[in-house]
Amino acid sequence: SMTLADQYNSDGCAISFELFPPKTDAGIESLCENVERLLQFQPRFFTCTYGAGGSSQGTTLEVLQRVKQITKLPVASHLTCVGLNTEQLSDYLRRATEIGVDYIVALRGDPPKGTTEFSVTEGGLRYANELVGLIREQFQDLGIAVAGYPEVHQEASDAQTDLDNLKRKVDAGADIVITQLFYDNADFYRFRDDCVRAGITVPIVPGILPVTNFKQAQRIAGMCKAAIPISLADAMTTDDSPEHQFRVGVDHARQQTIDLIEHGVPGIHYYVLNRSAAAAELLDGLQLAGQA
Ligand code: FAD
Repeated sequence: SMTLADQYNSDGCAISFELFPPKTDAGIESLCENVERLLQFQPRFFTCTYGAGGSSQGTTLEVLQRVKQITKLPVASHLTCVGLNTEQLSDYLRRATEIGVDYIVALRGDPPKGTTEFSVTEGGLRYANELVGLIREQFQDLGIAVAGYPEVHQEASDAQTDLDNLKRKVDAGADIVITQLFYDNADFYRFRDDCVRAGITVPIVPGILPVTNFKQAQRIAGMCKAAIPISLADAMTTDDSPEHQFRVGVDHARQQTIDLIEHGVPGIHYYVLNRSAAAAELLDGLQLAGQA
Protein backbone atom coordinates (compact mmCIF):
# COMPACT_ATOMS: atom_id res chain seq x y z
CA SER A 1 0.00 0.00 0.00
CA MET A 2 0.94 3.67 -0.22
CA THR A 3 3.90 4.86 1.86
CA LEU A 4 3.19 7.36 4.61
CA ALA A 5 5.22 10.08 2.89
CA ASP A 6 3.34 9.51 -0.38
CA GLN A 7 0.01 10.13 1.34
CA TYR A 8 1.08 13.78 1.52
CA ASN A 9 2.75 14.08 -1.87
CA SER A 10 -0.47 13.96 -3.82
CA ASP A 11 -2.73 16.98 -4.34
CA GLY A 12 -5.11 18.16 -1.68
CA CYS A 13 -5.44 17.74 2.03
CA ALA A 14 -4.88 14.20 3.34
CA ILE A 15 -7.28 13.48 6.19
CA SER A 16 -6.52 10.94 8.94
CA PHE A 17 -8.51 9.96 12.03
CA GLU A 18 -7.19 8.95 15.45
CA LEU A 19 -8.97 6.35 17.59
CA PHE A 20 -8.24 4.89 21.03
CA PRO A 21 -8.73 1.33 22.32
CA PRO A 22 -12.22 1.04 23.87
CA LYS A 23 -12.53 -0.67 27.26
CA THR A 24 -15.65 -2.68 26.43
CA ASP A 25 -17.12 -4.80 23.64
CA ALA A 26 -19.88 -2.23 23.24
CA GLY A 27 -17.17 0.38 22.81
CA ILE A 28 -15.59 -1.66 20.01
CA GLU A 29 -18.92 -2.04 18.21
CA SER A 30 -19.63 1.67 18.44
CA LEU A 31 -16.08 2.43 17.23
CA CYS A 32 -16.62 0.23 14.18
CA GLU A 33 -19.90 1.96 13.33
CA ASN A 34 -18.27 5.37 13.63
CA VAL A 35 -15.32 4.29 11.49
CA GLU A 36 -17.76 3.29 8.76
CA ARG A 37 -19.45 6.70 8.98
CA LEU A 38 -16.10 8.47 8.76
CA LEU A 39 -15.26 6.70 5.50
CA GLN A 40 -17.43 9.16 3.57
CA PHE A 41 -14.69 11.76 4.10
CA GLN A 42 -12.19 9.56 2.28
CA PRO A 43 -9.52 9.47 4.97
CA ARG A 44 -6.11 8.19 3.89
CA PHE A 45 -5.61 6.16 7.07
CA PHE A 46 -6.69 5.59 10.67
CA THR A 47 -4.47 5.50 13.75
CA CYS A 48 -5.03 4.00 17.21
CA THR A 49 -3.33 5.23 20.37
CA TYR A 50 -1.26 3.06 22.66
CA GLY A 51 -1.42 3.31 26.45
CA ALA A 52 -2.36 6.99 26.31
CA GLY A 53 -3.08 8.55 29.69
CA GLY A 54 -2.04 5.32 31.37
CA SER A 55 -4.81 3.33 29.65
CA SER A 56 -4.50 -0.32 28.76
CA GLN A 57 -1.93 -1.21 26.12
CA GLY A 58 -3.61 -4.45 25.21
CA THR A 59 -5.98 -3.85 22.39
CA THR A 60 -4.43 -1.34 20.00
CA LEU A 61 -3.51 -4.03 17.48
CA GLU A 62 -6.89 -5.75 17.73
CA VAL A 63 -8.63 -2.45 17.07
CA LEU A 64 -6.44 -1.78 14.04
CA GLN A 65 -7.03 -5.26 12.68
CA ARG A 66 -10.80 -4.63 12.82
CA VAL A 67 -10.46 -1.17 11.31
CA LYS A 68 -8.34 -2.47 8.45
CA GLN A 69 -10.90 -5.21 7.75
CA ILE A 70 -13.68 -2.63 7.61
CA THR A 71 -11.91 0.10 5.68
CA LYS A 72 -9.23 -1.66 3.59
CA LEU A 73 -7.17 1.44 4.34
CA PRO A 74 -3.67 1.68 5.80
CA VAL A 75 -3.62 1.71 9.62
CA ALA A 76 -1.10 3.16 12.06
CA SER A 77 -0.32 1.94 15.56
CA HIS A 78 0.92 4.46 18.08
CA LEU A 79 3.71 2.99 20.20
CA THR A 80 5.50 4.39 23.25
CA CYS A 81 8.70 3.52 25.10
CA VAL A 82 6.78 3.12 28.38
CA GLY A 83 7.19 -0.22 30.13
CA LEU A 84 8.90 -2.16 27.32
CA ASN A 85 12.56 -3.01 26.75
CA THR A 86 13.96 -2.97 23.23
CA GLU A 87 13.30 -6.67 22.73
CA GLN A 88 9.64 -6.20 23.70
CA LEU A 89 9.37 -3.16 21.44
CA SER A 90 10.73 -5.22 18.53
CA ASP A 91 8.28 -7.96 19.38
CA TYR A 92 5.36 -5.51 19.31
CA LEU A 93 6.53 -4.16 15.95
CA ARG A 94 6.82 -7.67 14.54
CA ARG A 95 3.26 -8.51 15.66
CA ALA A 96 2.08 -5.20 14.21
CA THR A 97 3.56 -5.97 10.80
CA GLU A 98 2.12 -9.48 10.94
CA ILE A 99 -1.43 -8.18 11.30
CA GLY A 100 -0.91 -5.66 8.49
CA VAL A 101 -0.11 -2.43 10.33
CA ASP A 102 1.41 -0.02 7.81
CA TYR A 103 2.67 2.88 9.90
CA ILE A 104 3.84 3.62 13.45
CA VAL A 105 3.32 6.84 15.40
CA ALA A 106 6.54 6.63 17.42
CA LEU A 107 6.38 8.25 20.84
CA ARG A 108 8.19 8.35 24.12
CA GLY A 109 4.93 8.30 26.01
CA ASP A 110 3.69 10.05 29.10
CA PRO A 111 4.61 9.00 32.62
CA PRO A 112 2.27 6.18 33.75
CA LYS A 113 -0.75 7.16 35.88
CA GLY A 114 0.17 8.21 39.38
CA THR A 115 3.71 9.28 38.45
CA THR A 116 4.90 12.66 37.27
CA GLU A 117 8.20 11.88 35.62
CA PHE A 118 9.01 9.59 32.73
CA SER A 119 11.38 6.83 33.80
CA VAL A 120 13.29 4.57 31.46
CA THR A 121 12.46 0.87 31.49
CA GLU A 122 15.49 -1.32 32.09
CA GLY A 123 16.91 -2.16 28.68
CA GLY A 124 14.46 0.26 27.12
CA LEU A 125 14.55 3.65 25.41
CA ARG A 126 14.58 7.21 26.77
CA TYR A 127 13.47 9.36 23.83
CA ALA A 128 11.24 8.95 20.81
CA ASN A 129 14.18 9.48 18.41
CA GLU A 130 15.64 6.20 19.73
CA LEU A 131 12.39 4.40 18.92
CA VAL A 132 12.44 5.87 15.41
CA GLY A 133 16.00 4.57 15.03
CA LEU A 134 15.00 1.11 16.21
CA ILE A 135 12.10 0.95 13.75
CA ARG A 136 14.23 2.17 10.84
CA GLU A 137 16.89 -0.40 11.65
CA GLN A 138 14.59 -3.40 12.00
CA PHE A 139 11.39 -2.66 10.02
CA GLN A 140 12.28 -0.63 6.92
CA ASP A 141 8.81 -0.96 5.43
CA LEU A 142 6.94 0.73 8.28
CA GLY A 143 6.08 4.40 7.77
CA ILE A 144 6.89 6.55 10.81
CA ALA A 145 5.11 9.60 12.22
CA VAL A 146 6.42 11.54 15.22
CA ALA A 147 4.85 14.13 17.53
CA GLY A 148 5.44 17.89 17.28
CA TYR A 149 4.36 20.61 19.71
CA PRO A 150 3.21 24.02 18.39
CA GLU A 151 2.92 25.23 21.99
CA VAL A 152 6.19 23.51 23.06
CA HIS A 153 6.38 20.21 24.98
CA GLN A 154 5.79 20.56 28.75
CA GLU A 155 9.22 19.28 29.70
CA ALA A 156 11.27 21.24 27.16
CA SER A 157 13.28 24.13 28.58
CA ASP A 158 12.49 26.32 25.54
CA ALA A 159 11.08 26.22 22.02
CA GLN A 160 14.45 25.96 20.28
CA THR A 161 15.52 22.93 22.35
CA ASP A 162 12.20 21.27 21.59
CA LEU A 163 12.71 21.93 17.86
CA ASP A 164 16.25 20.53 18.00
CA ASN A 165 14.78 17.39 19.52
CA LEU A 166 12.08 17.21 16.87
CA LYS A 167 14.82 17.47 14.24
CA ARG A 168 16.56 14.50 15.89
CA LYS A 169 13.42 12.40 15.36
CA VAL A 170 13.16 13.42 11.72
CA ASP A 171 16.88 12.81 11.13
CA ALA A 172 16.45 9.36 12.68
CA GLY A 173 14.00 8.55 9.89
CA ALA A 174 10.51 9.90 10.59
CA ASP A 175 8.40 10.44 7.45
CA ILE A 176 6.01 13.03 8.86
CA VAL A 177 5.28 15.09 11.97
CA ILE A 178 1.79 15.13 13.49
CA THR A 179 1.18 17.94 15.94
CA GLN A 180 -0.37 18.06 19.34
CA LEU A 181 -3.84 19.61 19.17
CA PHE A 182 -4.11 23.40 19.26
CA TYR A 183 -6.99 25.87 19.09
CA ASP A 184 -5.24 28.90 17.62
CA ASN A 185 -3.90 28.36 14.12
CA ALA A 186 -1.35 31.15 14.64
CA ASP A 187 0.51 28.76 16.97
CA PHE A 188 0.66 26.20 14.19
CA TYR A 189 1.85 28.63 11.51
CA ARG A 190 4.61 29.90 13.79
CA PHE A 191 5.65 26.30 14.53
CA ARG A 192 5.64 25.39 10.84
CA ASP A 193 7.88 28.37 10.01
CA ASP A 194 10.23 27.43 12.85
CA CYS A 195 10.43 23.85 11.55
CA VAL A 196 11.38 25.08 8.09
CA ARG A 197 14.07 27.32 9.60
CA ALA A 198 15.37 24.34 11.60
CA GLY A 199 15.74 22.36 8.37
CA ILE A 200 12.80 20.03 8.96
CA THR A 201 11.50 19.28 5.49
CA VAL A 202 9.01 16.43 6.05
CA PRO A 203 5.24 17.15 6.00
CA ILE A 204 4.01 18.87 9.20
CA VAL A 205 0.45 17.69 9.75
CA PRO A 206 -1.73 19.70 12.14
CA GLY A 207 -3.71 17.76 14.75
CA ILE A 208 -7.24 19.06 15.37
CA LEU A 209 -9.67 18.09 18.12
CA PRO A 210 -13.29 19.15 17.78
CA VAL A 211 -14.18 19.90 21.40
CA THR A 212 -17.78 19.13 22.17
CA ASN A 213 -18.14 20.50 25.68
CA PHE A 214 -16.31 23.02 27.80
CA LYS A 215 -15.38 20.67 30.66
CA GLN A 216 -13.74 18.31 28.16
CA ALA A 217 -11.92 21.24 26.55
CA GLN A 218 -10.51 22.28 29.93
CA ARG A 219 -9.47 18.74 30.84
CA ILE A 220 -7.72 18.18 27.54
CA ALA A 221 -6.09 21.60 27.61
CA GLY A 222 -4.66 20.78 31.03
CA MET A 223 -3.41 17.39 29.88
CA CYS A 224 -1.60 18.51 26.76
CA LYS A 225 -0.85 22.16 27.39
CA ALA A 226 -3.07 23.47 24.62
CA ALA A 227 -4.35 26.94 25.51
CA ILE A 228 -8.05 27.63 24.95
CA PRO A 229 -8.44 31.09 23.40
CA ILE A 230 -10.57 33.41 25.56
CA SER A 231 -12.95 33.97 22.64
CA LEU A 232 -13.61 30.21 22.40
CA ALA A 233 -14.01 29.82 26.17
CA ASP A 234 -16.43 32.78 26.23
CA ALA A 235 -18.47 31.51 23.30
CA MET A 236 -18.74 28.06 24.86
CA THR A 237 -19.75 29.27 28.30
CA THR A 238 -22.47 31.75 27.29
CA ASP A 239 -24.82 28.77 27.47
CA ASP A 240 -24.18 25.48 29.24
CA SER A 241 -26.56 23.35 27.18
CA PRO A 242 -24.83 20.40 25.53
CA GLU A 243 -26.24 21.42 22.14
CA HIS A 244 -24.78 24.91 22.37
CA GLN A 245 -21.32 23.72 23.46
CA PHE A 246 -21.23 21.06 20.75
CA ARG A 247 -22.18 23.63 18.11
CA VAL A 248 -19.54 26.15 19.24
CA GLY A 249 -16.78 23.52 19.49
CA VAL A 250 -17.54 22.01 16.11
CA ASP A 251 -17.80 25.45 14.45
CA HIS A 252 -14.42 26.35 15.88
CA ALA A 253 -12.80 23.17 14.52
CA ARG A 254 -14.47 23.81 11.15
CA GLN A 255 -13.09 27.36 10.99
CA GLN A 256 -9.64 26.05 11.94
CA THR A 257 -9.93 23.46 9.17
CA ILE A 258 -10.96 25.97 6.49
CA ASP A 259 -8.13 28.28 7.47
CA LEU A 260 -5.54 25.48 7.51
CA ILE A 261 -6.56 24.34 4.03
CA GLU A 262 -6.25 27.95 2.81
CA HIS A 263 -2.76 27.98 4.29
CA GLY A 264 -1.80 24.96 2.24
CA VAL A 265 -1.38 22.24 4.87
CA PRO A 266 -0.61 18.84 3.34
CA GLY A 267 -3.13 17.10 5.58
CA ILE A 268 -5.06 17.25 8.84
CA HIS A 269 -5.13 14.62 11.59
CA TYR A 270 -8.37 14.57 13.60
CA TYR A 271 -8.59 13.41 17.19
CA VAL A 272 -12.10 11.99 16.86
CA LEU A 273 -12.16 10.07 20.19
CA ASN A 274 -13.94 7.09 18.55
CA ARG A 275 -16.91 9.25 17.59
CA SER A 276 -18.12 10.55 14.25
CA ALA A 277 -20.84 13.15 14.84
CA ALA A 278 -18.53 16.12 15.42
CA ALA A 279 -16.16 15.19 12.59
CA ALA A 280 -19.09 14.64 10.23
CA GLU A 281 -20.49 18.10 10.97
CA LEU A 282 -17.20 19.91 10.79
CA LEU A 283 -16.17 18.28 7.51
CA ASP A 284 -19.60 18.43 5.90
CA GLY A 285 -19.39 19.95 2.46
CA LEU A 286 -15.76 21.06 2.72
CA GLN A 287 -13.65 20.75 -0.42
CA LEU A 288 -10.70 18.63 0.61
CA ALA A 289 -9.21 19.05 -2.86
CA GLY A 290 -7.51 16.04 -4.32
CA GLN A 291 -10.21 13.59 -3.33
CA ALA A 292 -11.85 11.61 -6.07
P1 FAD B 1 10.14 12.94 22.81
O1 FAD B 1 10.22 13.37 21.41
O2 FAD B 1 11.08 11.89 23.27
O3 FAD B 1 10.30 14.24 23.72
C1 FAD B 1 10.08 14.21 25.13
C2 FAD B 1 10.80 15.40 25.77
O4 FAD B 1 12.21 15.18 25.76
C3 FAD B 1 10.59 16.73 25.05
O5 FAD B 1 10.57 17.74 26.02
C4 FAD B 1 11.81 16.84 24.14
O6 FAD B 1 12.14 18.19 23.86
C5 FAD B 1 12.88 16.13 24.94
N1 FAD B 1 13.80 15.34 24.09
C6 FAD B 1 13.46 14.57 23.02
N2 FAD B 1 14.53 13.93 22.52
C7 FAD B 1 15.57 14.28 23.28
C8 FAD B 1 16.95 13.93 23.27
N3 FAD B 1 17.45 13.08 22.36
N4 FAD B 1 17.76 14.49 24.22
C9 FAD B 1 17.26 15.34 25.13
N5 FAD B 1 15.96 15.71 25.19
C10 FAD B 1 15.12 15.18 24.29
N6 FAD B 1 1.04 9.23 24.42
C11 FAD B 1 0.75 7.94 24.68
O7 FAD B 1 1.02 7.47 25.79
N7 FAD B 1 0.15 7.14 23.76
C12 FAD B 1 -0.17 7.59 22.53
O8 FAD B 1 -0.71 6.85 21.71
C13 FAD B 1 0.13 8.95 22.19
N8 FAD B 1 -0.13 9.47 20.97
C14 FAD B 1 0.25 10.76 20.66
C15 FAD B 1 0.03 11.23 19.35
C16 FAD B 1 0.41 12.52 19.00
C17 FAD B 1 0.21 12.99 17.58
C18 FAD B 1 0.96 13.38 19.99
C19 FAD B 1 1.32 14.81 19.66
C20 FAD B 1 1.18 12.93 21.29
C21 FAD B 1 0.83 11.60 21.64
N9 FAD B 1 1.07 11.09 22.93
C22 FAD B 1 0.75 9.77 23.20
C23 FAD B 1 1.65 11.92 23.99
C24 FAD B 1 3.19 11.80 24.11
O9 FAD B 1 3.53 10.48 24.50
C25 FAD B 1 3.67 12.80 25.12
O10 FAD B 1 3.50 14.11 24.65
C26 FAD B 1 5.08 12.59 25.66
O11 FAD B 1 5.23 13.40 26.83
C27 FAD B 1 6.20 12.97 24.72
O12 FAD B 1 6.31 12.08 23.68
P2 FAD B 1 7.29 12.41 22.44
O13 FAD B 1 7.26 11.23 21.56
O14 FAD B 1 6.98 13.71 21.85
O15 FAD B 1 8.69 12.46 23.22
